[in-house]
Amino acid sequence: MTESALEIDGLSYGYGRGFAIEDISFRIGQGEFTALLGPNGAGKTTLFSLITRLFEAPRGKISVCGINLRERPTKALAHMGVVFQQPTLDLDLTVRQNLHYFASLHGIGRRDAADRIDEALERLDMGERDKEKVRQLNGGHRRRVELARALLHRPDLLVLDEPTVGLDVPARRGIVEHVHDLCRTQGMAVLWATHLIDEVYPDDRVVVIHKGHILADGSVAEVNQNNSSANLTQTFHRLINQV
Ligand code: ATP
Repeated sequence: MTESALEIDGLSYGYGRGFAIEDISFRIGQGEFTALLGPNGAGKTTLFSLITRLFEAPRGKISVCGINLRERPTKALAHMGVVFQQPTLDLDLTVRQNLHYFASLHGIGRRDAADRIDEALERLDMGERDKEKVRQLNGGHRRRVELARALLHRPDLLVLDEPTVGLDVPARRGIVEHVHDLCRTQGMAVLWATHLIDEVYPDDRVVVIHKGHILADGSVAEVNQNNSSANLTQTFHRLINQV
């Protein structure tokens, strides 16, 4: 078996009484797009916070490209590009200044960083916007800059926590399409957390999560077939209404 981009084994976490997620296990292969689909409060952000090491789980194991996150956090996180649910760019800096700052945090030299910034912005159709202040950009374009930022250190795994929250439909589609394109053309593995079924493509692998537990895991076709449903919307509602 080839090494997983992400492997989660027996992960649990609670904020006090009870578990927000309990005994979660799944793996993402290299270059695989996985949608983590769940309604509000399902546990997506909690899982995301454990994967990005904002929180540490008392139980369970996370490995990134075969590296144990608890034992070698810096090395494991270096393989990961992250887009948080809340935007975290400096609005008063230009797009390029924001990206240079993050490149320097990754130890990327100035000249190399300039090339990587050009490449990432081109890829996201933002090549002409580099001198604009982030404040001048609309929500969809700000999200693209965050995505560009996540690519600068050339990660093997991209993890995104509901990256389209608050965007209109065309902007959402743009982000979803760009991330699928990165997966297809760059072979990047993706974990895409969402509560929006229309962000899951028919060829994606989908992990359905609700009340801190995984209810289904497989290709969209497999998950529909296992639940005798015609489409993912039906499957999703059937699964979450059973819990
Ligand atoms: P959303 O789509 O609304 O972001 P989610 O799937 O990301 O939802 P989480 O935010 O992980 O879900 O929440 C999982 C559970 O943990 C929910 O019951 C939530 O109320 C609870 N929870 C989340 N954060 C906290 C916190 N800081 N303190 C206490 N409980 C929390």
